[in-house]
Amino acid sequence: MRRTVGVLVMEHIAVGLVESHKVLGAVSIYPESVQSLDPLQSMPAEGIVDCIRQQVEKVARGEEVEAIGIGFPGIIKNGVIEDSPNFHQAKGFSLQAALSSALSGVHLFNDADVMAAGIAATQGKLNKLIRVWTLGNGIGFGRFPSSEGIWEGGHSVVTLDPKENFCGCGGRGHLEGILGRRSMRLRFLDLEPEEVFENASAGDARCKEFVTLCHRALAAATATSIHMEGPGTFFVTGPEVKFIDIGLLDRLLHEMVKMSPLQGSRFELVPTSDEMGIIGAAVNADRATSS
Ligand SMILES: [Zn+2]
Repeated sequence: MRRTVGVLVMEHIAVGLVESHKVLGAVSIYPESVQSLDPLQSMPAEGIVDCIRQQVEKVARGEEVEAIGIGFPGIIKNGVIEDSPNFHQAKGFSLQAALSSALSGVHLFNDADVMAAGIAATQGKLNKLIRVWTLGNGIGFGRFPSSEGIWEGGHSVVTLDPKENFCGCGGRGHLEGILGRRSMRLRFLDLEPEEVFENASAGDARCKEFVTLCHRALAAATATSIHMEGPGTFFVTGPEVKFIDIGLLDRLLHEMVKMSPLQGSRFELVPTSDEMGIIGAAVNADRATSS
């Protein structure tokens, strides 16, 4: 039976052995315990390489694997991390080549793209266009099947307000500068993102206004995708998916998309899971190997 290793690098590094779109055995996670500060932020690119290599060897347990798929945040091209606003140390790093000296069959993908592939595989939709938003420190936009292009949807411009400058990439007016966890912390220096959303539910005016802004921003970036590529289902996942009110998001989207051939889109929340990304990374690696 064909076995592939899937690796997801998002808030942590999660690695699993995959067969027939299922994870076999336990997922290996680094770091093992939840830490308040993102441990990968301060890790040099070479440290990430060692960490991935050790975990791949651990889950493979000496057995042969056909391919290794890795999902990593940022603009990925030909195995190189061309840019990664939330992992500055990885910019320009050739992760695929660095790993290939120790492991064979390594393929590198964007992290949100592997989430899209994981959703497609686990929901039996490998023949459909899958679009997904991943909400974390950064905002990812993933597509399956992946296609040529950049697809940095998280950096869609959703406001012309020049004061909106919290995005990790430095660009003004970006979706990630509103909805990304890192940018929320910069905006509310006195509150954690969880407190902002709790205060909004309790009626605090400043927090309520921000929660509406978050939903309008995500609806706006989705509307842009619909106006470019047509309607469909948009999945929303990632650690911060808990902040999203899907009913509000649907209403706002329908105010923004009015042309009749573009109607019929909907949002679907998918609980965040490492397995989904691991399976997706394996699916994309299998496709890259067989094509
Ligand atoms: Zn940006």
